[in-house]
Amino acid sequence: MSTPSILSDRINSLSESATLKMTKLGRELAAKGVNVISLSVGEPDFNTPEHVKQAAKQALDDNYTRYSPVPGYPELRKAIVDKLKNENGLDYDASQIVVSTGAKQSLSNAILTLINPGDEVIIPTPYWVSYSEMVTLAEGKSVFINTTIDSDFKITPEELEAVITPKSKLFMFSSPCNPTGSVYTKAELEGLVRVFEKYPNIYIISDEIYEHINFIGQHESIAQFDSIKDRVILINGFSKAFAMTGWRLGYLAATKEIALANDKLQGQTTSGTCSIAQRAGIAALDQGLETVLEMKAAFARRRELVYNLLKDIPGVKTNLPQGAFYFFPDISSFFGKMDPQGNVIKDSADLALYLLNEGHVATVGGDSFGNNNYIRLSYAASDENLREALRRIKEALAKLA
Ligand code: PMP
Ligand code: GLU
Repeated sequence: MSTPSILSDRINSLSESATLKMTKLGRELAAKGVNVISLSVGEPDFNTPEHVKQAAKQALDDNYTRYSPVPGYPELRKAIVDKLKNENGLDYDASQIVVSTGAKQSLSNAILTLINPGDEVIIPTPYWVSYSEMVTLAEGKSVFINTTIDSDFKITPEELEAVITPKSKLFMFSSPCNPTGSVYTKAELEGLVRVFEKYPNIYIISDEIYEHINFIGQHESIAQFDSIKDRVILINGFSKAFAMTGWRLGYLAATKEIALANDKLQGQTTSGTCSIAQRAGIAALDQGLETVLEMKAAFARRRELVYNLLKDIPGVKTNLPQGAFYFFPDISSFFGKMDPQGNVIKDSADLALYLLNEGHVATVGGDSFGNNNYIRLSYAASDENLREALRRIKEALAKLA
């Protein structure tokens, strides 16, 4: 008889984050002296802009070292309101903004605030790894809409409507999308909005953390449609736009009722996020988009580079992503093949592990994003590392027979 687990069912039902796991495995291999190129974790390879770092140093000198208000400093919430107005054309009041310890916490807070056990959360696949796991933690049920590379990984209004049931409570997606880089146009969003108008009990989590890394035009938020705006929980943060992944700063914008509920939840869990990070966040928003645009230009160049190298690898099928900094190529043609040690590649996780161990390139298997036929490559790396990584991937894949 097996010994019962001392851990809760809740934690036992949770998978480890695959993005973080592959990054950890890559780091462990590198610590043994192996030259590993990491294309696994999605984080800008740039440094936080100088003026943001200065603001943090100033915050320390000014003794911003005590508890902040739970939903964030008023000046930061106001700066976020201004940003949403000026950059996105969206009207919010500071009372509708809750600042958290990364967009990850904002997402988790929003789900815990809205989901009762058994509620259904509609998630198009591929989705960012943590979405379905956060739903599991909240005892909700993820309902997936599968997409493939042939539809550019986007869903249609018909596909959305087909999965709606009386238990549907939330729809959640990211555009630009992690892991595919797909971007919904205004017309495509409008098509989805027409469906939501018919189902007033469904709320929408719109994860817009990659808004500035969009190669096809301006960012379109689903919150711009007045008919459903009150049901949108807009998520954003500083990690990608300002290369501030380690600072842990994100936020949500929603109705006052939902914002207050998130404030209450956060007050019982983590309290207001790091005071110094918040002061730095104010400086980031005040300065505007100059550094973001520089990063975007580098990402645009690297996207071309990786696209041309990926297209050249036999057995790999790729598209040209329109945003974010990921490729999500179809690698299913390698399933069933054998590596030089005689192990069969059964799925995308096997392939990602093989690429790490044989090619010393860390990627993430698509299974954790809900589509097993793919792997995710982050191109937030130097041109030189990208060239070398793609060379290694090509060489390693050619050894599979
Ligand atoms: N949403 C998406 C789609 C992401 O890729 C990430 C990872 N950065 C997050 C949310 C969380 O971002 P953070 O917690 O670093 O603000
Ligand atoms: N969002 C990043 C990624 O997808 C960071 C890692 C994580 O938080 O999962 O790789």
